Amino acid sequence: MVLLETERMFNIATDEDILGGDASDVYFQRSISGIKKKGFDYDVSAEFTVSGPLNTWLNFSGLDEVVNALEGRNVDLYAIPEGTVMNPRDSDGIPVPFLRIEGKYSEFGEMETAILGFICQSTGISTEASKVRIAAGDLPFFSFGIRRMHPAISPMIDRAAFIGGADGVSGILGAKIVGLEPLGTMPHALSLLAGDDEAWAISQMNIPKGHKKVLLIDTYMDEKFAAMKAADMFPNVDYLRLDTPGSRRGNFPALLREVRWELDLRGHSKVKLMVTGGLNAESVSQLKEAGADAFGVGTSISSARPFDFAMDIVSVRGAPLTKRGKFSGTKNVFRCPSCGRIEVKPSKTTRKTCSCGKRMEPMLKKFIEAGKEAGNYEHPKEIRERSVKEISKFGTMFNRDQ
Ligand SMILES: [Zn+2]
Repeated sequence: MVLLETERMFNIATDEDILGGDASDVYFQRSISGIKKKGFDYDVSAEFTVSGPLNTWLNFSGLDEVVNALEGRNVDLYAIPEGTVMNPRDSDGIPVPFLRIEGKYSEFGEMETAILGFICQSTGISTEASKVRIAAGDLPFFSFGIRRMHPAISPMIDRAAFIGGADGVSGILGAKIVGLEPLGTMPHALSLLAGDDEAWAISQMNIPKGHKKVLLIDTYMDEKFAAMKAADMFPNVDYLRLDTPGSRRGNFPALLREVRWELDLRGHSKVKLMVTGGLNAESVSQLKEAGADAFGVGTSISSARPFDFAMDIVSVRGAPLTKRGKFSGTKNVFRCPSCGRIEVKPSKTTRKTCSCGKRMEPMLKKFIEAGKEAGNYEHPKEIRERSVKEISKFGTMFNRDQ
């Protein structure tokens, strides 16, 4: 077995490693011991803002792990809730703080790397999922991308994709976290082992109650003739799935239109088409127009570019102080529920009226008080419900701004 000094089977950090600050860059631990020794361990406030990309809105997620990591440390945590759609800058160009931690630096300094990792990657994934959500409109789309990433983070990927707007996930652990049954269709392997006819019959056995019946039709045959054959053999199937290989995708939208035409002509207009394989927000939008009814989206979501959040101290012993290039002092974030205007103000501003006349909503909520969780954390289903409303309202609103 390939075990090096860490004596672990997989190249991952354990919960204890992360909570103990060992899944961090080493310079934090070294600085903290020096600060403590010399008496500089002051009360500070630190804020988390986005350095890039700045040309897009984001759907914030990953906060659940931050709350778990900071619980028990003597700090207060304020944050914008998961599933909130925001721009990284306010309407005047001021960086939006998504989190604020208050406490002695030694209480949380060594957690900077881990906290950034939680929110940077998860927010990248939930934001990409939200863009697919907008492209798919009312049609269902599923997160099928965990196979392209390290298995240790598959639950996080599926959770973030779900919060971002995916209707279901394929991962067993991810599905457990979000409280759904995992979704699966049928693998090409089944057709390769049993031939299409047998494989289709086998795949229709043992389908969990309430789940859709899906047949994969592109293992051997041309999509049109396979679709006609499968629909004739199984007229009550819900979806025919096209996972057409890249080398056969001269014009995938045209292929879909042709399949739809032939099925309709033969009385199979109730049989829907699911497409998978290399999809992203752009291709989902094109394939929707060409007649696709459902989408399995993988790598474009699971490997989405992380947002570059950064943590910076903004006040020391109650006085505004920060490094070059940052905005000092603790802040509040307001968003107008009507026109979407965002304003970042010094935290002494607790109420704000929008230029459109509406009362603006304060976005930062308290999640940890003196090391204890403040209130009950929302279930991923509740977060998603809010998130989907946010996407349809602010996602398109912020899109127009850019
Ligand atoms: Zn307004």
